[in-house]
Amino acid sequence: MKDLGDSARALDKLSIGRLVSLFEDTRAEVAGDRAAVLAALADSPRRARFIGITGAPGSGKSTLVGQLGTRLVARDPDAAVAVLAVDPSSHVSGGALLGDRTRVRFAPGEKRLFFRSQASDRDLGGVGRGTFQVCRLLYYLFDYVLVETVGIGQSEVEIQHVADYTYLLVQPLAGDQVQFMKAGIMEVPDAFVVNKYDQVEAAERAYHALEASLRMARLGRSGPPVIFKTSATTGVGLDELVADLARPDLPRKPMADKEAYFFEKWVRDQYGRVGLRRLDGGAATWLAAHDGFEAAQQAFAARMVSSPRAD
Ligand code: GDP
Repeated sequence: MKDLGDSARALDKLSIGRLVSLFEDTRAEVAGDRAAVLAALADSPRRARFIGITGAPGSGKSTLVGQLGTRLVARDPDAAVAVLAVDPSSHVSGGALLGDRTRVRFAPGEKRLFFRSQASDRDLGGVGRGTFQVCRLLYYLFDYVLVETVGIGQSEVEIQHVADYTYLLVQPLAGDQVQFMKAGIMEVPDAFVVNKYDQVEAAERAYHALEASLRMARLGRSGPPVIFKTSATTGVGLDELVADLARPDLPRKPMADKEAYFFEKWVRDQYGRVGLRRLDGGAATWLAAHDGFEAAQQAFAARMVSSPRAD
C-alpha cells in the first residue's frame, strides 16, 4: 500500500486507478487497506479543493470540465487536476447509462490530468456511495478535483456535501425559466454558468431568465447571484471561470464535516433508523472518538452486532 501510495503521489495513472478502485469498494474487508493508504498519504503536500459542476444532460458539463482541467494545469506548472464524473446508472441494465461514452478527453501523456467516471447509486440516485470515499483519496493526490454530476435528482443536493463550491451549468433553451423554477434546486449551487454563449441571443435570454428566477428563489441569500457566461467550445469566459474557482479565498468545507455527513449516511443505509438512534452524540462525535472513518465504521458495526437494540 505504501508503494502504491508513493507512485500515486508521483501521479502514476495506473497506481491512482488501482487506488480509486480500492476506495470505490465499500466492503468492510478492504477498510484496513483504505486506512493504510490514507495513513501513507497523510504527509502529502496536496489538499485538493473540490469543485462541483452540475447541470442537465447536454448543457456542456463534460466539454467544460475538459477545458477547465486543461487550463488549470496550463496556468500552474505544479497543479494536478482530477475529474470525477458521476454518471446515472441505468435501471434497466444496471450499468452506467453513459459509461462507454468518452466524456472528457485529456492528452494521455499529461500526468497532471486524471479522469475517472463512476456510476451513481442505483437506489439513492445521487452521488455514488463510493464517490465520497474516492474523494477522500483524491484529496491528498490533487490540487483540484472537478466533480461532474448529472443535474437530476438527488445528486443536485448531495453534491454540496462533496464539493466545496458548486457551479450549476445551464444552456440556452426556450422555456428555461420554467425549468429553473420547477427544478427547485436554486439553493444548492454557489454560482451559475450560462454555457454556449456562442449562441449569443439565446444565451442572453437564458441569462436574463436565470437572473429573474434567482431573484425570486434566493431571496434569503445576501448579494446578487454570481452568473458566469461561457462557451466551452469557443473559450469565451473560460479564463474568468478558471480564475474564480482557483481563487485563494474560495470557500472550503472542512473534510471532517464531509466525513460526518457521509458517516451518518452510511449508518442510515446500513442500519436504518435503529442505527441512527444508536449514533448518540451524532456522527461528528462518533468520528472524533475514533481514529479515522474506517475505524469508526468498524467500531459502529461492532456495536450494532454486540447490542443491536438501544440500550
Ligand atoms: P453534458 O451532457 O452536460 O456533459 O454535455 P456535453 O459536454 O456532452 O455537451 C453536449 C453537446 O453540447 C455537445 O455536442 C457539445 O459539443 C456541445 N457543447 C458544449 N459546450 C458548448 C458550447 O459552449 N457551445 C456550443 N455551441 N456547444 C457546446
